[in-house]
Amino acid sequence: MRFTNSPLVVYRKISPNKTSPRNHKIDTITIHCMAGNLSIETCGNVFASSSRKASSNYGIGTDGRIALYVEEKDRSWASSNAKNDHRAVTIEVANDGGAPDWHVSDRAIASLIELVTDICKRNSIKKLVWSTNKTDRINHLHGCNMTVHRDFAAKACPGNYLYNLHSYIAEQVNERLSVKTTPTNAAITPESNPYKEPTTNIRKGTKGEGAKWVQWYLWRFGLLEKSEIDGVIGSKSDMAIREAQRRLGLVVDGIVGKATRETWKKLY
Ligand SMILES: [Zn+2]
Repeated sequence: MRFTNSPLVVYRKISPNKTSPRNHKIDTITIHCMAGNLSIETCGNVFASSSRKASSNYGIGTDGRIALYVEEKDRSWASSNAKNDHRAVTIEVANDGGAPDWHVSDRAIASLIELVTDICKRNSIKKLVWSTNKTDRINHLHGCNMTVHRDFAAKACPGNYLYNLHSYIAEQVNERLSVKTTPTNAAITPESNPYKEPTTNIRKGTKGEGAKWVQWYLWRFGLLEKSEIDGVIGSKSDMAIREAQRRLGLVVDGIVGKATRETWKKLY
């Protein structure tokens, strides 16, 4: 089994709290709530402490940005159940509201749906199946492949808001899984940008090697097809640059200057 990580990730802080490697193929999704409005950076700092003995594979902030804390090849310490976490990808989602609902922003939900779709695609999970019956969930009966933290411990996690959204999340993911698209990000092998980094600003209308350097990152982020790395920043590349800036919390101006370049280079 070859494991990859999601290209949707815009921040990485690998936690020491994990079991490496996992001992089961990925066939389950476990969505958690942070029980607080933590940014992905703050959550990463929490999981960076080895005394905390907790982690998750991914984290999603209220702003919709996605982080990687434990690579998919490894088992996170998230659900109070080793067996579950060896087969599950675990995702912590920030809350913009408190107990007992632990509300989650629409932006975080949108990112969650995209991330789970991507995880399913890369790990050959054909369909996401939710059940409101705990016995179905913990025994993976009737194809059920979504579990929740409260199945394994006396916890409110994932909160009532996310718990009640599970059937909707499954429906949205399945809709996306049924659409046949070219597998641009299906199995990205680690590679570095083959193009020369520009020294001047790249924006709509720019042509040449610098434009290709920018488009390589846009492809790596899943915003362009590889065949679209053509060295010309047209409308689609311009929109992709803005989307990449939005996801990273940068100024959304469509101009790839030094700040944007430095942020991208830290990622890949
Ligand atoms: Zn949890």
